[in-house]
Amino acid sequence: MEIPSRIRRTAAAIGLCAVLVAVPAVPAVAATEPAAPKTPQPPAVPTEQVVTTEQVMSHLRALQSIADRNGGNRAHGSKGFRQSLMYVKGVLDKAGFRTSLRPFTHNGALGYNLVADWPGGDPDHVVLVGAHLDSVEAGPGMSDNGSGSAAVLATAVAMSRAGVAPKRHLRFAWWGAEEQGLIGSEDYVRKLSAAQRRKIDVYLNFDMTGTRNVQQWLVVHDEPGATDTFEAYFAAKGLPTFDVGIGGSDHQSFGDAGIPVSGFSTGLGDCYHAACDRIDNVDPAIETISANAVLGVTRQLVAH
Ligand SMILES: [Zn+2]
Repeated sequence: MEIPSRIRRTAAAIGLCAVLVAVPAVPAVAATEPAAPKTPQPPAVPTEQVVTTEQVMSHLRALQSIADRNGGNRAHGSKGFRQSLMYVKGVLDKAGFRTSLRPFTHNGALGYNLVADWPGGDPDHVVLVGAHLDSVEAGPGMSDNGSGSAAVLATAVAMSRAGVAPKRHLRFAWWGAEEQGLIGSEDYVRKLSAAQRRKIDVYLNFDMTGTRNVQQWLVVHDEPGATDTFEAYFAAKGLPTFDVGIGGSDHQSFGDAGIPVSGFSTGLGDCYHAACDRIDNVDPAIETISANAVLGVTRQLVAH
């Protein structure tokens, strides 16, 4: 990810989160005593659906151990990338998504994008949520971009758990070869027909979502509905944001094709593109806040 100068000025820290509530079954009372009339209880309103720290960090742990088993990285063309792909696909298949691998070739190596569709929703109005899954060759890429990949995966699983029935069609994607120059996402957009491009109402990108010592969430200001929903989400949580334009990650591939975009990043951290970009380079509290922002906003966007 090439970092525009505005972002370099803003990297630093804070954060926190909560849980999905299940109502326990009440045991039956003995027939002898007339039961005291029960005061009618209002239906349990589900509190805000959330992703727990354990749910999102478990995906990062899986990606870290894949890198450790494969020469320390998950770069384009490597076994580490292919195993990362299979891990994410396996979780999604189990959660009921319709998944497909989209191959492309770059620098003589086969790369893949992974696309996952949730059943239902208006196919002419698609909300696409994505993150790049590859790392640089120098390191495992836990902050860049295991964090974004895990936040998007945790969101997909949470939607599945909730059995979401979206109004707009919900699609997720994990891109390959972003570190080589947005290769995977560009390939995906290039292969879309004009009609298919028009059906994408908005593409949301998440590249680095668990940066230690974050100071602001850098919100991509483009598609007004999504942009406003992100800003409202963070404002409601009392979390600071900074508005950024299109550039430096996979949303650029969509913006360049005239497809509206948004999303956010927590910015540049230590160990950027280095061997030390390991799981301890990701702040679990920040990552949890970010995963819940992805979930909260995506849920709102597909609901109308
Ligand atoms: Zn990145």
